[in-house]
Amino acid sequence: MLRPHVGRFALATLMLLIGSSLTLVYPQAAREAIDAGISDASSAKLNWLAAAVVVVFVLNAAVTWARHYLMSWLGERVVAELRSKVYARLLQQPLSWFHERPTGELTGRLAADVGTIQSIVGSELSMALRELVTLIGGLVMLFYQSWELTIGMLLIIPPVLVTGFAFGKRIRKMSAAVQDKLAETSAQVQESAAAISTVQAFRREGKEIERYDQRVDAFFKAALQLSSWRGLFIATMSLLGWMAVASMLWLGGRQIIAGTLSAGDLTAFLLYTTMVAFSLGGLANLWGSLQSAAGATVRLFDILDRVPEIRDADDAVALPASAGRFAFVDVRFSYPARKDTAVLDGVSLQVEPGETVAVVGRSGAGKSTLAALLYRFFDVDQGSVVVDGVDVKRARLSDLRGRLAIVAQDPVLFSGSIHDNIAYARPDASRDDVVRAATQAHAHGFTTAFSEGYDTLIGERGVKLSGGQRQRLAIARALLADPRILILDEATSSLDGESEALVHDALQTLMKGRTTLVIAHRLSTVKDAHRIVVLDQGKIVDVGSHQELVRREGLYRTLVEHQLVAA
Ligand code: ADP
Repeated sequence: MLRPHVGRFALATLMLLIGSSLTLVYPQAAREAIDAGISDASSAKLNWLAAAVVVVFVLNAAVTWARHYLMSWLGERVVAELRSKVYARLLQQPLSWFHERPTGELTGRLAADVGTIQSIVGSELSMALRELVTLIGGLVMLFYQSWELTIGMLLIIPPVLVTGFAFGKRIRKMSAAVQDKLAETSAQVQESAAAISTVQAFRREGKEIERYDQRVDAFFKAALQLSSWRGLFIATMSLLGWMAVASMLWLGGRQIIAGTLSAGDLTAFLLYTTMVAFSLGGLANLWGSLQSAAGATVRLFDILDRVPEIRDADDAVALPASAGRFAFVDVRFSYPARKDTAVLDGVSLQVEPGETVAVVGRSGAGKSTLAALLYRFFDVDQGSVVVDGVDVKRARLSDLRGRLAIVAQDPVLFSGSIHDNIAYARPDASRDDVVRAATQAHAHGFTTAFSEGYDTLIGERGVKLSGGQRQRLAIARALLADPRILILDEATSSLDGESEALVHDALQTLMKGRTTLVIAHRLSTVKDAHRIVVLDQGKIVDVGSHQELVRREGLYRTLVEHQLVAA
Protein backbone atom coordinates (compact mmCIF):
# COMPACT_ATOMS: atom_id res chain seq x y z
CA MET A 1 0.00 0.00 0.00
CA LEU A 2 3.04 2.24 0.31
CA ARG A 3 3.85 1.73 -3.34
CA PRO A 4 1.88 4.68 -4.74
CA HIS A 5 3.72 6.98 -2.34
CA VAL A 6 7.20 5.71 -3.09
CA GLY A 7 8.56 9.22 -3.80
CA ARG A 8 7.61 10.55 -0.38
CA PHE A 9 8.81 7.36 1.22
CA ALA A 10 12.22 7.79 -0.41
CA LEU A 11 12.41 11.40 0.77
CA ALA A 12 11.47 10.40 4.30
CA THR A 13 14.10 7.67 4.24
CA LEU A 14 16.70 10.15 3.04
CA MET A 15 15.86 12.48 5.95
CA LEU A 16 16.14 9.53 8.23
CA LEU A 17 19.54 8.56 6.88
CA ILE A 18 20.81 12.13 7.21
CA GLY A 19 19.47 12.36 10.76
CA SER A 20 21.03 9.10 11.83
CA SER A 21 24.36 9.92 10.21
CA LEU A 22 24.42 13.24 12.04
CA THR A 23 23.83 11.43 15.32
CA LEU A 24 26.77 9.17 14.51
CA VAL A 25 29.06 12.19 14.14
CA TYR A 26 28.63 13.26 17.72
CA PRO A 27 30.80 10.57 19.45
CA GLN A 28 33.59 11.54 17.05
CA ALA A 29 33.32 15.10 18.26
CA ALA A 30 33.38 13.87 21.84
CA ARG A 31 36.50 11.84 21.13
CA GLU A 32 38.21 14.84 19.57
CA ALA A 33 37.08 17.04 22.42
CA ILE A 34 38.54 14.73 25.03
CA ASP A 35 41.74 13.77 23.25
CA ALA A 36 42.61 16.95 21.37
CA GLY A 37 40.72 19.53 23.40
CA ILE A 38 40.95 18.44 27.01
CA SER A 39 44.07 16.23 27.04
CA ASP A 40 46.02 18.67 24.82
CA ALA A 41 44.52 21.64 26.70
CA SER A 42 43.73 23.51 23.46
CA SER A 43 40.78 25.79 24.15
CA ALA A 44 40.62 27.08 20.57
CA LYS A 45 39.97 23.59 19.27
CA LEU A 46 37.45 22.97 22.06
CA ASN A 47 35.48 26.11 21.08
CA TRP A 48 35.50 25.09 17.47
CA LEU A 49 34.30 21.57 18.31
CA ALA A 50 31.52 22.81 20.58
CA ALA A 51 30.24 25.14 17.83
CA ALA A 52 30.38 22.32 15.28
CA VAL A 53 28.40 20.03 17.59
CA VAL A 54 25.70 22.70 18.02
CA VAL A 55 25.41 23.07 14.22
CA VAL A 56 25.13 19.30 13.84
CA PHE A 57 22.37 19.11 16.43
CA VAL A 58 20.41 22.01 14.93
CA LEU A 59 20.60 20.35 11.52
CA ASN A 60 19.55 17.11 13.10
CA ALA A 61 16.52 18.77 14.65
CA ALA A 62 15.40 20.13 11.27
CA VAL A 63 15.84 16.77 9.59
CA THR A 64 14.03 15.03 12.44
CA TRP A 65 11.04 17.29 11.95
CA ALA A 66 10.96 16.60 8.20
CA ARG A 67 11.29 12.87 8.73
CA HIS A 68 8.61 12.81 11.37
CA TYR A 69 6.20 14.82 9.25
CA LEU A 70 6.77 12.78 6.11
CA MET A 71 6.53 9.46 7.91
CA SER A 72 3.34 10.46 9.72
CA TRP A 73 1.89 11.67 6.45
CA LEU A 74 2.60 8.28 4.93
CA GLY A 75 1.17 6.47 7.91
CA GLU A 76 -2.04 8.48 7.98
CA ARG A 77 -2.45 8.28 4.21
CA VAL A 78 -1.93 4.53 4.07
CA VAL A 79 -4.29 3.96 6.97
CA ALA A 80 -6.98 6.17 5.43
CA GLU A 81 -6.70 4.18 2.22
CA LEU A 82 -6.73 0.93 4.16
CA ARG A 83 -9.91 1.93 5.97
CA SER A 84 -11.69 2.76 2.72
CA LYS A 85 -10.54 -0.42 1.07
CA VAL A 86 -11.62 -2.61 3.96
CA TYR A 87 -15.00 -0.88 4.12
CA ALA A 88 -15.51 -1.27 0.38
CA ARG A 89 -14.60 -4.93 0.63
CA LEU A 90 -16.91 -5.37 3.58
CA LEU A 91 -19.91 -4.09 1.65
CA GLN A 92 -19.27 -6.63 -1.10
CA GLN A 93 -19.40 -9.63 1.19
CA PRO A 94 -22.44 -11.86 0.91
CA LEU A 95 -25.21 -11.65 3.50
CA SER A 96 -24.21 -14.99 5.00
CA TRP A 97 -20.83 -13.54 5.95
CA PHE A 98 -22.55 -10.82 7.98
CA HIS A 99 -24.92 -13.32 9.56
CA GLU A 100 -21.94 -15.19 10.95
CA ARG A 101 -20.65 -12.29 13.06
CA PRO A 102 -22.18 -9.60 15.24
CA THR A 103 -22.07 -6.10 13.76
CA GLY A 104 -20.53 -4.62 16.89
CA GLU A 105 -17.63 -7.01 16.66
CA LEU A 106 -17.09 -6.00 13.08
CA THR A 107 -17.06 -2.27 13.75
CA GLY A 108 -15.03 -2.64 16.92
CA ARG A 109 -12.49 -4.76 15.17
CA LEU A 110 -12.21 -2.43 12.24
CA ALA A 111 -11.50 0.49 14.54
CA ALA A 112 -9.06 -1.37 16.80
CA ASP A 113 -7.18 -3.23 14.10
CA VAL A 114 -6.79 -0.21 11.88
CA GLY A 115 -5.68 1.79 14.93
CA THR A 116 -2.96 -0.73 15.67
CA ILE A 117 -1.70 -0.55 12.13
CA GLN A 118 -1.86 3.23 12.20
CA SER A 119 0.60 3.41 15.07
CA ILE A 120 2.91 0.99 13.28
CA VAL A 121 3.00 2.74 9.94
CA GLY A 122 2.76 6.24 11.37
CA SER A 123 5.59 6.18 13.87
CA GLU A 124 6.97 2.81 14.72
CA LEU A 125 8.07 1.94 11.22
CA SER A 126 10.05 5.15 11.04
CA MET A 127 11.51 4.50 14.48
CA ALA A 128 12.48 1.01 13.46
CA LEU A 129 14.27 2.33 10.39
CA ARG A 130 16.07 4.94 12.44
CA GLU A 131 17.15 2.38 15.03
CA LEU A 132 18.31 0.07 12.28
CA VAL A 133 20.40 2.78 10.64
CA THR A 134 21.87 3.80 14.00
CA LEU A 135 22.58 0.16 14.78
CA ILE A 136 24.39 -0.54 11.53
CA GLY A 137 26.15 2.84 11.47
CA GLY A 138 27.11 2.45 15.11
CA LEU A 139 28.53 -0.99 14.48
CA VAL A 140 30.58 0.26 11.54
CA MET A 141 31.96 3.11 13.64
CA LEU A 142 32.70 0.69 16.48
CA PHE A 143 34.57 -1.56 14.16
CA TYR A 144 36.59 1.36 12.90
CA GLN A 145 37.26 2.46 16.48
CA SER A 146 38.43 -0.91 17.80
CA TRP A 147 37.63 -4.15 16.08
CA GLU A 148 38.76 -6.27 19.02
CA LEU A 149 36.28 -4.57 21.35
CA THR A 150 33.58 -4.72 18.67
CA ILE A 151 33.84 -8.46 18.36
CA GLY A 152 33.47 -8.74 22.12
CA MET A 153 30.40 -6.52 21.91
CA LEU A 154 28.82 -8.54 19.15
CA LEU A 155 28.54 -11.45 21.59
CA ILE A 156 25.29 -9.94 22.86
CA ILE A 157 23.57 -10.35 19.51
CA PRO A 158 22.76 -14.09 19.79
CA PRO A 159 21.04 -13.75 23.20
CA VAL A 160 19.12 -10.71 21.88
CA LEU A 161 17.85 -12.66 18.88
CA VAL A 162 16.91 -15.69 20.97
CA THR A 163 15.03 -13.51 23.45
CA GLY A 164 13.31 -11.64 20.62
CA PHE A 165 11.98 -14.76 18.98
CA ALA A 166 11.08 -16.50 22.22
CA PHE A 167 8.99 -13.57 23.44
CA GLY A 168 7.69 -12.53 20.02
CA LYS A 169 5.56 -15.59 19.42
CA ARG A 170 3.97 -15.50 22.83
CA ILE A 171 3.28 -11.75 22.60
CA ARG A 172 1.61 -12.14 19.23
CA LYS A 173 -0.76 -14.77 20.58
CA MET A 174 -1.63 -12.75 23.66
CA SER A 175 -2.17 -9.68 21.60
CA ALA A 176 -4.68 -11.43 19.33
CA ALA A 177 -6.49 -12.58 22.47
CA VAL A 178 -6.61 -9.00 23.75
CA GLN A 179 -8.09 -7.76 20.47
CA ASP A 180 -10.68 -10.54 20.54
CA LYS A 181 -11.75 -9.62 24.04
CA LEU A 182 -12.03 -5.98 23.04
CA ALA A 183 -14.16 -6.87 20.03
CA GLU A 184 -16.49 -8.84 22.30
CA THR A 185 -17.09 -5.83 24.50
CA SER A 186 -17.90 -3.65 21.48
CA ALA A 187 -20.27 -6.33 20.22
CA GLN A 188 -22.21 -6.19 23.46
CA VAL A 189 -22.48 -2.40 23.49
CA GLN A 190 -23.80 -2.44 19.96
CA GLU A 191 -26.29 -5.19 20.72
CA SER A 192 -27.73 -3.71 23.88
CA ALA A 193 -27.87 -0.20 22.42
CA ALA A 194 -29.83 -1.52 19.47
CA ALA A 195 -32.25 -3.35 21.76
CA ILE A 196 -32.33 -0.78 24.55
CA SER A 197 -36.12 -0.81 24.94
CA THR A 198 -36.14 -4.58 25.41
CA VAL A 199 -33.28 -4.36 27.87
CA GLN A 200 -35.11 -1.75 29.94
CA ALA A 201 -38.53 -3.35 29.60
CA PHE A 202 -37.23 -6.61 31.02
CA ARG A 203 -35.19 -4.79 33.66
CA ARG A 204 -32.07 -6.47 32.38
CA GLU A 205 -29.78 -3.44 32.83
CA GLY A 206 -28.15 -4.99 35.89
CA LYS A 207 -27.53 -8.30 34.18
CA GLU A 208 -26.22 -6.62 31.05
CA ILE A 209 -23.86 -4.49 33.11
CA GLU A 210 -22.69 -7.62 34.90
CA ARG A 211 -22.09 -9.40 31.61
CA TYR A 212 -20.27 -6.36 30.27
CA ASP A 213 -18.16 -6.09 33.40
CA GLN A 214 -17.16 -9.70 33.02
CA ARG A 215 -16.06 -9.05 29.48
CA VAL A 216 -14.21 -5.88 30.44
CA ASP A 217 -12.56 -7.80 33.22
CA ALA A 218 -11.52 -10.57 30.85
CA PHE A 219 -10.09 -7.91 28.57
CA PHE A 220 -8.30 -6.26 31.50
CA LYS A 221 -6.72 -9.55 32.54
CA ALA A 222 -5.62 -10.37 29.03
CA ALA A 223 -4.19 -6.87 28.55
CA LEU A 224 -2.38 -7.08 31.87
CA GLN A 225 -0.88 -10.42 31.00
CA LEU A 226 0.28 -9.01 27.69
CA SER A 227 1.81 -5.98 29.41
CA SER A 228 3.62 -8.07 31.95
CA TRP A 229 5.23 -10.17 29.22
CA ARG A 230 6.06 -7.16 27.13
CA GLY A 231 7.55 -5.49 30.19
CA LEU A 232 9.65 -8.54 30.93
CA PHE A 233 10.77 -8.58 27.33
CA ILE A 234 11.79 -4.93 27.34
CA ALA A 235 13.56 -5.32 30.69
CA THR A 236 15.53 -8.33 29.44
CA MET A 237 16.55 -6.46 26.34
CA SER A 238 17.65 -3.40 28.23
CA LEU A 239 19.56 -5.57 30.69
CA LEU A 240 21.42 -7.18 27.81
CA GLY A 241 22.23 -3.75 26.38
CA TRP A 242 23.61 -2.34 29.61
CA MET A 243 25.58 -5.52 30.23
CA ALA A 244 27.25 -4.89 26.91
CA VAL A 245 28.08 -1.31 27.92
CA ALA A 246 29.44 -2.49 31.28
CA SER A 247 31.65 -5.14 29.74
CA MET A 248 32.99 -2.63 27.21
CA LEU A 249 33.83 -0.24 30.03
CA TRP A 250 35.74 -2.99 31.73
CA LEU A 251 37.49 -4.29 28.60
CA GLY A 252 38.28 -0.77 27.32
CA GLY A 253 39.49 0.33 30.75
CA ARG A 254 41.99 -2.50 30.72
CA GLN A 255 43.26 -1.35 27.32
CA ILE A 256 43.70 2.21 28.60
CA ILE A 257 45.69 0.86 31.54
CA ALA A 258 47.78 -1.15 29.07
CA GLY A 259 48.24 2.08 27.08
CA THR A 260 46.75 0.74 23.81
CA LEU A 261 43.69 3.00 23.85
CA SER A 262 43.19 6.73 24.50
CA ALA A 263 40.55 8.10 26.87
CA GLY A 264 38.86 9.81 23.88
CA ASP A 265 38.75 6.54 21.96
CA LEU A 266 37.10 4.78 24.84
CA THR A 267 34.59 7.63 25.25
CA ALA A 268 33.63 7.44 21.59
CA PHE A 269 33.52 3.69 21.81
CA LEU A 270 31.22 3.77 24.84
CA LEU A 271 28.93 6.34 23.19
CA TYR A 272 28.64 4.14 20.14
CA THR A 273 28.04 1.09 22.30
CA THR A 274 25.24 2.91 24.12
CA MET A 275 23.74 3.93 20.79
CA VAL A 276 23.94 0.39 19.46
CA ALA A 277 22.56 -1.07 22.65
CA PHE A 278 19.69 1.44 22.75
CA SER A 279 18.90 0.76 19.10
CA LEU A 280 18.89 -2.95 19.78
CA GLY A 281 16.56 -2.45 22.73
CA GLY A 282 14.36 -0.13 20.66
CA LEU A 283 14.25 -2.60 17.81
CA ALA A 284 13.35 -5.40 20.18
CA ASN A 285 10.53 -3.32 21.60
CA LEU A 286 9.31 -2.54 18.10
CA TRP A 287 9.52 -6.23 17.32
CA GLY A 288 7.05 -6.69 20.15
CA SER A 289 4.63 -4.12 18.67
CA LEU A 290 5.08 -5.59 15.23
CA GLN A 291 4.03 -8.91 16.64
CA SER A 292 0.89 -7.27 18.06
CA ALA A 293 0.20 -5.67 14.72
CA ALA A 294 0.68 -8.94 12.91
CA GLY A 295 -2.56 -10.21 14.44
CA ALA A 296 -4.40 -7.08 13.34
CA THR A 297 -3.02 -7.13 9.80
CA VAL A 298 -3.88 -10.78 9.34
CA ARG A 299 -7.51 -10.06 10.14
CA LEU A 300 -7.73 -6.95 7.97
CA PHE A 301 -6.03 -8.56 5.02
CA ASP A 302 -8.33 -11.54 5.51
CA ILE A 303 -11.17 -9.19 4.71
CA LEU A 304 -9.25 -7.42 1.94
CA ASP A 305 -8.26 -10.66 0.23
CA ARG A 306 -11.67 -12.25 0.63
CA VAL A 307 -13.19 -12.59 -2.80
CA PRO A 308 -16.94 -12.54 -2.20
CA GLU A 309 -18.61 -15.78 -3.33
CA ILE A 310 -21.47 -13.78 -4.74
CA ARG A 311 -20.04 -11.56 -7.45
CA ASP A 312 -20.26 -11.03 -11.19
CA ALA A 313 -19.26 -14.13 -13.14
CA ASP A 314 -16.31 -13.59 -15.50
CA ASP A 315 -18.68 -13.96 -18.42
CA ALA A 316 -21.49 -12.00 -16.75
CA VAL A 317 -24.06 -10.68 -19.19
CA ALA A 318 -26.24 -7.59 -19.18
CA LEU A 319 -29.92 -8.28 -18.72
CA PRO A 320 -31.93 -7.73 -21.92
CA ALA A 321 -34.17 -4.68 -22.13
CA SER A 322 -36.73 -4.71 -19.37
CA ALA A 323 -39.57 -7.17 -19.45
CA GLY A 324 -39.97 -8.27 -15.82
CA ARG A 325 -40.37 -12.01 -16.20
CA PHE A 326 -38.85 -14.33 -13.62
CA ALA A 327 -38.82 -17.98 -12.73
CA PHE A 328 -37.67 -20.42 -10.10
CA VAL A 329 -36.68 -23.68 -11.74
CA ASP A 330 -36.61 -26.70 -9.42
CA VAL A 331 -34.84 -24.65 -6.75
CA ARG A 332 -33.32 -26.39 -3.78
CA PHE A 333 -31.76 -24.25 -1.13
CA SER A 334 -30.50 -24.30 2.43
CA TYR A 335 -28.91 -21.39 4.30
CA PRO A 336 -25.10 -21.51 4.58
CA ALA A 337 -25.42 -21.36 8.37
CA ARG A 338 -27.75 -24.38 8.47
CA LYS A 339 -26.71 -26.56 5.58
CA ASP A 340 -28.58 -29.62 6.85
CA THR A 341 -32.08 -28.08 6.67
CA ALA A 342 -33.57 -27.66 3.22
CA VAL A 343 -35.50 -24.38 3.23
CA LEU A 344 -36.69 -24.70 -0.38
CA ASP A 345 -37.09 -28.18 -1.72
CA GLY A 346 -37.78 -28.27 -5.43
CA VAL A 347 -39.66 -25.02 -6.03
CA SER A 348 -40.69 -24.22 -9.60
CA LEU A 349 -42.63 -21.09 -10.43
CA GLN A 350 -42.85 -18.95 -13.54
CA VAL A 351 -44.13 -15.39 -13.28
CA GLU A 352 -45.04 -13.37 -16.40
CA PRO A 353 -44.48 -9.62 -16.92
CA GLY A 354 -47.18 -7.55 -15.22
CA GLU A 355 -48.45 -10.48 -13.21
CA THR A 356 -49.06 -10.32 -9.45
CA VAL A 357 -48.27 -13.52 -7.62
CA ALA A 358 -48.80 -13.89 -3.90
CA VAL A 359 -46.97 -16.46 -1.85
CA VAL A 360 -48.71 -17.62 1.31
CA GLY A 361 -47.79 -20.21 3.88
CA ARG A 362 -47.06 -20.69 7.54
CA SER A 363 -44.33 -18.65 9.08
CA GLY A 364 -40.97 -20.24 8.29
CA ALA A 365 -42.29 -21.87 5.10
CA GLY A 366 -39.60 -20.14 3.05
CA LYS A 367 -41.51 -17.18 1.58
CA SER A 368 -38.95 -14.47 2.33
CA THR A 369 -36.23 -16.80 1.16
CA LEU A 370 -37.71 -16.63 -2.36
CA ALA A 371 -37.16 -12.87 -2.37
CA ALA A 372 -33.59 -13.25 -1.09
CA LEU A 373 -32.82 -15.67 -3.90
CA LEU A 374 -34.32 -13.39 -6.53
CA TYR A 375 -31.88 -10.71 -5.35
CA ARG A 376 -29.12 -13.32 -5.38
CA PHE A 377 -28.27 -12.60 -1.77
CA PHE A 378 -27.53 -16.33 -1.69
CA ASP A 379 -26.80 -18.84 -4.41
CA VAL A 380 -29.16 -21.79 -4.82
CA ASP A 381 -27.83 -25.28 -4.16
CA GLN A 382 -29.63 -26.79 -7.13
CA GLY A 383 -31.86 -25.58 -9.92
CA SER A 384 -31.82 -21.96 -10.99
CA VAL A 385 -33.40 -18.57 -10.59
CA VAL A 386 -33.98 -16.90 -13.92
CA VAL A 387 -34.74 -13.21 -14.50
CA ASP A 388 -35.72 -12.10 -18.00
CA GLY A 389 -34.27 -15.26 -19.48
CA VAL A 390 -30.89 -15.02 -17.72
CA ASP A 391 -29.78 -17.22 -14.84
CA VAL A 392 -29.09 -14.82 -11.97
CA LYS A 393 -25.66 -16.43 -11.50
CA ARG A 394 -24.73 -15.23 -14.98
CA ALA A 395 -26.43 -11.83 -14.88
CA ARG A 396 -24.56 -8.70 -13.91
CA LEU A 397 -25.39 -8.20 -10.24
CA SER A 398 -25.98 -4.49 -10.59
CA ASP A 399 -28.33 -5.07 -13.56
CA LEU A 400 -30.20 -7.71 -11.65
CA ARG A 401 -30.63 -5.70 -8.49
CA GLY A 402 -31.48 -2.59 -10.48
CA ARG A 403 -34.40 -4.45 -11.93
CA LEU A 404 -35.81 -5.24 -8.50
CA ALA A 405 -37.20 -3.23 -5.63
CA ILE A 406 -38.52 -4.41 -2.33
CA VAL A 407 -40.94 -2.85 0.08
CA ALA A 408 -40.09 -4.67 3.25
CA GLN A 409 -42.20 -5.43 6.32
CA ASP A 410 -40.17 -3.13 8.45
CA PRO A 411 -38.58 -0.65 6.06
CA VAL A 412 -35.09 0.41 6.96
CA LEU A 413 -34.66 4.16 7.13
CA PHE A 414 -31.18 5.63 7.30
CA SER A 415 -30.26 8.60 9.41
CA GLY A 416 -30.66 11.58 7.15
CA SER A 417 -33.50 13.65 5.77
CA ILE A 418 -36.74 12.37 4.30
CA HIS A 419 -35.43 13.49 0.92
CA ASP A 420 -32.25 11.42 1.34
CA ASN A 421 -34.23 8.40 2.38
CA ILE A 422 -36.52 8.46 -0.62
CA ALA A 423 -33.64 9.27 -2.96
CA TYR A 424 -31.65 6.33 -1.56
CA ALA A 425 -32.95 4.39 -4.53
CA ARG A 426 -31.59 6.95 -6.98
CA PRO A 427 -29.16 9.47 -5.49
CA ASP A 428 -29.25 11.66 -8.60
CA ALA A 429 -33.01 12.18 -8.32
CA SER A 430 -34.08 15.83 -8.30
CA ARG A 431 -36.29 17.34 -5.62
CA ASP A 432 -39.18 17.27 -8.11
CA ASP A 433 -38.72 13.53 -8.70
CA VAL A 434 -38.68 12.93 -4.97
CA VAL A 435 -41.78 15.03 -4.37
CA ARG A 436 -43.60 13.26 -7.20
CA ALA A 437 -42.77 9.84 -5.80
CA ALA A 438 -43.75 10.93 -2.30
CA THR A 439 -47.05 12.32 -3.56
CA GLN A 440 -47.92 9.09 -5.36
CA ALA A 441 -47.00 7.15 -2.23
CA HIS A 442 -49.20 9.39 -0.03
CA ALA A 443 -46.11 10.50 1.86
CA HIS A 444 -46.23 14.14 0.73
CA GLY A 445 -48.94 15.11 3.21
CA PHE A 446 -47.25 14.06 6.42
CA THR A 447 -43.85 15.19 5.15
CA THR A 448 -44.99 18.76 4.50
CA ALA A 449 -46.68 18.79 7.89
CA PHE A 450 -43.21 18.76 9.47
CA SER A 451 -41.82 22.28 9.72
CA GLU A 452 -38.73 21.30 7.77
CA GLY A 453 -40.60 19.28 5.16
CA TYR A 454 -38.37 17.07 3.07
CA ASP A 455 -35.32 18.18 5.05
CA THR A 456 -36.75 16.75 8.27
CA LEU A 457 -34.21 14.42 9.80
CA ILE A 458 -35.39 10.89 10.48
CA GLY A 459 -33.69 7.67 11.45
CA GLU A 460 -31.69 7.03 14.57
CA ARG A 461 -31.33 10.66 15.57
CA GLY A 462 -34.34 12.22 13.91
CA VAL A 463 -38.08 12.22 14.36
CA LYS A 464 -39.76 8.88 14.80
CA LEU A 465 -42.26 7.93 12.13
CA SER A 466 -45.24 5.64 12.54
CA GLY A 467 -45.29 2.21 10.88
CA GLY A 468 -47.62 3.43 8.15
CA GLN A 469 -45.48 6.50 7.44
CA ARG A 470 -42.35 4.42 7.22
CA GLN A 471 -44.05 2.09 4.77
CA ARG A 472 -45.18 4.96 2.60
CA LEU A 473 -41.63 6.30 2.49
CA ALA A 474 -40.46 2.86 1.46
CA ILE A 475 -43.09 2.84 -1.28
CA ALA A 476 -41.93 6.27 -2.47
CA ARG A 477 -38.38 4.93 -2.53
CA ALA A 478 -39.47 1.96 -4.62
CA LEU A 479 -41.44 4.23 -6.98
CA LEU A 480 -38.33 6.28 -7.57
CA ALA A 481 -36.32 3.13 -8.24
CA ASP A 482 -38.88 2.30 -10.93
CA PRO A 483 -38.18 -1.45 -10.95
CA ARG A 484 -39.65 -3.95 -13.40
CA ILE A 485 -40.08 -6.48 -10.63
CA LEU A 486 -41.47 -5.57 -7.28
CA ILE A 487 -41.32 -7.57 -4.08
CA LEU A 488 -43.78 -6.75 -1.36
CA ASP A 489 -42.94 -8.21 1.97
CA GLU A 490 -46.27 -7.40 3.56
CA ALA A 491 -46.54 -5.96 7.01
CA THR A 492 -47.54 -8.45 9.68
CA SER A 493 -48.47 -5.81 12.18
CA SER A 494 -51.77 -4.32 11.17
CA LEU A 495 -51.87 -0.61 10.61
CA ASP A 496 -54.79 1.51 11.73
CA GLY A 497 -57.66 1.75 9.24
CA GLU A 498 -56.79 5.06 7.65
CA SER A 499 -53.10 4.34 7.40
CA GLU A 500 -53.83 0.91 5.99
CA ALA A 501 -56.06 2.40 3.29
CA LEU A 502 -53.35 4.91 2.34
CA VAL A 503 -50.66 2.24 2.20
CA HIS A 504 -52.92 -0.03 0.20
CA ASP A 505 -53.69 2.72 -2.27
CA ALA A 506 -50.02 3.67 -2.59
CA LEU A 507 -49.16 0.05 -3.25
CA GLN A 508 -51.74 -0.16 -6.01
CA THR A 509 -50.04 2.80 -7.72
CA LEU A 510 -46.65 1.20 -7.27
CA MET A 511 -47.73 -2.19 -8.64
CA LYS A 512 -49.26 -0.76 -11.78
CA GLY A 513 -47.49 -2.16 -14.83
CA ARG A 514 -44.97 -4.14 -12.83
CA THR A 515 -44.46 -7.80 -12.07
CA THR A 516 -45.11 -8.26 -8.38
CA LEU A 517 -44.23 -10.98 -5.95
CA VAL A 518 -46.21 -10.55 -2.76
CA ILE A 519 -44.92 -12.25 0.33
CA ALA A 520 -48.22 -12.33 2.08
CA HIS A 521 -48.87 -12.33 5.74
CA ARG A 522 -52.38 -10.92 5.44
CA LEU A 523 -55.21 -11.24 2.99
CA SER A 524 -55.66 -7.73 1.64
CA THR A 525 -53.30 -7.90 -1.35
CA VAL A 526 -53.62 -11.64 -1.76
CA LYS A 527 -57.23 -11.48 -2.86
CA ASP A 528 -56.35 -9.24 -5.79
CA ALA A 529 -53.39 -11.34 -6.91
CA HIS A 530 -53.63 -13.09 -10.27
CA ARG A 531 -52.30 -16.25 -8.71
CA ILE A 532 -51.74 -17.44 -5.19
CA VAL A 533 -48.96 -19.90 -4.48
CA VAL A 534 -49.21 -21.93 -1.28
CA LEU A 535 -45.84 -22.82 0.15
CA ASP A 536 -45.40 -25.43 2.86
CA GLN A 537 -42.12 -26.67 4.26
CA GLY A 538 -40.20 -25.51 1.22
CA LYS A 539 -42.54 -27.01 -1.37
CA ILE A 540 -45.30 -25.50 -3.47
CA VAL A 541 -48.40 -27.42 -2.44
CA ASP A 542 -51.09 -25.50 -4.32
CA VAL A 543 -51.56 -22.74 -6.88
CA GLY A 544 -54.74 -20.92 -7.83
CA SER A 545 -56.92 -17.86 -7.32
CA HIS A 546 -58.43 -16.99 -3.97
CA GLN A 547 -61.81 -18.35 -5.03
CA GLU A 548 -60.35 -21.60 -6.33
CA LEU A 549 -58.18 -22.16 -3.30
CA VAL A 550 -60.85 -21.58 -0.65
CA ARG A 551 -63.07 -24.07 -2.41
CA ARG A 552 -60.43 -26.79 -2.01
CA GLU A 553 -59.83 -28.63 1.25
CA GLY A 554 -56.24 -27.46 1.42
CA LEU A 555 -53.70 -25.61 3.47
CA TYR A 556 -54.91 -22.27 2.08
CA ARG A 557 -58.35 -22.77 3.56
CA THR A 558 -56.85 -23.75 6.88
CA LEU A 559 -54.66 -20.66 6.79
CA VAL A 560 -57.67 -18.45 6.07
CA GLU A 561 -59.77 -20.17 8.72
CA HIS A 562 -57.08 -19.85 11.34
CA GLN A 563 -56.56 -16.31 10.20
CA LEU A 564 -52.86 -17.01 9.68
CA VAL A 565 -53.67 -15.09 6.60
CA ALA A 566 -55.99 -12.74 8.40
CA ALA A 567 -58.91 -11.48 6.35
P1 ADP B 1 -41.15 -17.14 5.86
O1 ADP B 1 -40.82 -15.90 5.12
O2 ADP B 1 -42.02 -18.07 5.09
O3 ADP B 1 -41.66 -16.91 7.22
P2 ADP B 1 -38.30 -17.60 5.69
O4 ADP B 1 -38.08 -17.70 4.23
O5 ADP B 1 -37.97 -16.33 6.36
O6 ADP B 1 -39.80 -18.00 6.04
O7 ADP B 1 -37.49 -18.76 6.42
C1 ADP B 1 -37.54 -20.10 6.02
C2 ADP B 1 -36.66 -20.93 6.95
O8 ADP B 1 -35.31 -20.55 6.80
C3 ADP B 1 -37.02 -20.78 8.40
O9 ADP B 1 -36.94 -22.06 8.99
C4 ADP B 1 -35.93 -19.88 8.95
O10 ADP B 1 -35.64 -20.22 10.27
C5 ADP B 1 -34.74 -20.21 8.04
N1 ADP B 1 -33.86 -19.03 7.87
C6 ADP B 1 -34.23 -17.81 7.44
N2 ADP B 1 -33.14 -16.99 7.33
C7 ADP B 1 -32.07 -17.73 7.69
C8 ADP B 1 -30.66 -17.47 7.79
N3 ADP B 1 -30.12 -16.28 7.48
N4 ADP B 1 -29.86 -18.48 8.21
C9 ADP B 1 -30.38 -19.68 8.53
N5 ADP B 1 -31.67 -19.98 8.44
C10 ADP B 1 -32.54 -19.04 8.04
